[in-house]
Amino acid sequence: MKYANIIVDISMEKLDKTFQYEIPEELKDILAVGMQVVVPFGKGSRTLTGYVIELTDQWEYDPSRIKKILQIADKGIRLEGQLIALAAWIRRTYGSTMNQALKTVLPVRQKVQEKTRRRVMLTISPKEAVEYLEIFQKKHQTARFRLLAALIDTKEMDYRLVMEQLHLTVSTVKKLEEMGILRVETAMVFRNPVKKIESNPILHRLNDTQQAIVEDILARNDRQDKRPSLVHGVTGSGKTEVYMELIAATLDRGQEAIVLIPEIALTFQTALRFYQRFGEQVTIINSRLSQGERYDQMERARTGQVKVMIGPRSALFTPFQNLGIIVIDEEHEASYKSETAPRYHARETAIERARMCKAFVVLGSATPTVESYEKALNGEYNLYELKKRVLDKPLPVSEIIDLREELQAGNRSILSDRLRSLMEDRLQKRQQIMLFLNRRGYAGFVSCRACGHVIKCPHCDVSLALHTGKRMVCHYCGYEEPAREKCPSCGSGYIGAFRAGTQQVTEIVQREFPSARVLRMDMDTTKNKDGHEKILEAFADGQADILVGTQMIVKGHDFPEVTLVGVLAADMSLYAGDYRASERTFQLLAQAAGRAGRGREKGIAIIQTYSPAHYSIQTAAAQDYEAFFKEEIAYRRLMEYPPAAHLLALYLSCREKELLDKESNFLGKELIGLIGKEPIRIIGPADAHVSKVNDIYRKVFYLKCQDQEPLLVLKEQLEQLTKEKESLKPVTIQFDMNPISGY
Ligand code: ADP
Ligand code: ZN
Ligand code: ZN
Repeated sequence: MKYANIIVDISMEKLDKTFQYEIPEELKDILAVGMQVVVPFGKGSRTLTGYVIELTDQWEYDPSRIKKILQIADKGIRLEGQLIALAAWIRRTYGSTMNQALKTVLPVRQKVQEKTRRRVMLTISPKEAVEYLEIFQKKHQTARFRLLAALIDTKEMDYRLVMEQLHLTVSTVKKLEEMGILRVETAMVFRNPVKKIESNPILHRLNDTQQAIVEDILARNDRQDKRPSLVHGVTGSGKTEVYMELIAATLDRGQEAIVLIPEIALTFQTALRFYQRFGEQVTIINSRLSQGERYDQMERARTGQVKVMIGPRSALFTPFQNLGIIVIDEEHEASYKSETAPRYHARETAIERARMCKAFVVLGSATPTVESYEKALNGEYNLYELKKRVLDKPLPVSEIIDLREELQAGNRSILSDRLRSLMEDRLQKRQQIMLFLNRRGYAGFVSCRACGHVIKCPHCDVSLALHTGKRMVCHYCGYEEPAREKCPSCGSGYIGAFRAGTQQVTEIVQREFPSARVLRMDMDTTKNKDGHEKILEAFADGQADILVGTQMIVKGHDFPEVTLVGVLAADMSLYAGDYRASERTFQLLAQAAGRAGRGREKGIAIIQTYSPAHYSIQTAAAQDYEAFFKEEIAYRRLMEYPPAAHLLALYLSCREKELLDKESNFLGKELIGLIGKEPIRIIGPADAHVSKVNDIYRKVFYLKCQDQEPLLVLKEQLEQLTKEKESLKPVTIQFDMNPISGY
């Protein structure tokens, strides 16, 4: 490479400004992205240090006016340099501009405004507090109970954190303030989102399995075996204790820790456990922090004031100087993949960051991704299993209900007879019920309610989606056929797109159980700020008997009074029209079933489906991950879907339909030329799943290859092509490596 693009200041304001320098001969072999270099700058050519962000053969200015790099500033790559190198890796792997990648990776510097902070403090003695606690418990005032229980633990807490994490309303805090139990104080300084915990940490002695895992991971780390570890363990099997033990060992060695937890699963209880164990060394970020607050937390990490960072995806880029461990809990969560460019995956990116700074990565899940489990089986990751719940708490039992039989028996309701009678029973016992409507497959797949047959693409083995009621389309390859009026399998006329929503379900349930108090939680009811929390709080508070909702209700929150979970139309997510549908279904069902029976009463999950024999449904009901994996990996191999191959998606969008059609056909031809002899398969162009958004038309290509490298090379060539080709300018092209959500 002849030239290096350099930024001289990595603060946000100037990130956009890169300067180009020539690489002197003696540095050509050594210079790498992320290195700090000394360069002449400006008219007087005073010297400045800057970071190399890109190496290129293409000059961007008049080459005769490009100055030369003077020297490398220091030999090692420092933290900032590492993050910049990570940005470069992200750009190359996932496709984006270098600037987008840098903005993802470097903390955004902004003037942190000194904001007033409110804190909630306990004003009565712990003894009195415990007396109140008992009263609240007796009266089933669970919101007050939660607040006071937390305050007994911590004495004082950040007001907003209390509201967010405990799902409280202002009135609960007010009430306790009126009762003289607590005081809300305004403080000027922003220190830590949670104040010091004074209670004694509950230290469990790890059981033998947990202990063996911890020791093995640490021993491997000492041997410089830096392969990531996957801890496969059902919920409640003690994974979090294992993470905490590993983190403690890491801190003892003078290193720092990052813990990624999906935001929806980052409950107050989880946060509290980390605080109790590690005290003020811990900090948390979440999406509700302002830019300034985020930056503040990142600075505290950079300067060594905190040593454990907990947060969602973006916490991965915490600028710890001496990072020792990255934990990724619930590693299967789709939220670990960014949905905007750069569409990076936090798991892969964590592994790359760990490689750069010699840290180790621990992944954990009850339902690992097929990708990770496959790597664990073939030795790329180390596999650890926690098969039992810690206190031998039983897993809920599941029953599968065949909706085809219900129809035959004359029951056309969305509630099977079995589910309805269990609901009656629970309502009578005043226990709570959750009804989960699997709406992931809302793209309008076409199925037969008499026999369960689903119409699939003959080329891609994914379901076809109904468009405007007239044609059925494959969103992978563009195949289409006219909509059917009769089931091609059994001839029944009960064929069509399943489209019941939570609102209809709620109405039906209300009609069947007029005296039951029904709450609904979906996109509509949670649109308002805090809508989500308010509904959950009301339900946790016992203000409703039945909670009807989408996937939102199956994650993160414990409702001990729930003893029945009904999954309506479990198959919907099976026919979402993408290759991950079975995996997502398994995960959702396993999680949904796990909602029942978290308290003392044993729980039961009813899984209603038109495809009772499908392996996702069978294995989820049996809570048998290995059996699921075996079926799923065979399918992926057969169809050459990830992890059996890599899939690079190309998203095209344009205001003019004709132009988009023309240019995507043009691109299709160019692709054939670019690929040459590489073993890459082109699928498409096809209409995107959502083929028009805000009057912008969208199309997709999928490029499939066993190895990733040829796809990365092809991506670079395409980026070049789109820069050069005038006619492609009105078309926006984005990349998605191994996509998770549809487009
Ligand atoms: P997971 O992260 O797999 O869901 P946790 O680590 O949260 O599991 O453990 C589930 C529960 O069991 C927690 O309340 C935790 O405090 C408790 N627990 C974990 N390990 C032990 C142990 N060795 N002895 C006693 N209790 C434990
Ligand atoms: Zn049929
Ligand atoms: Zn197809």
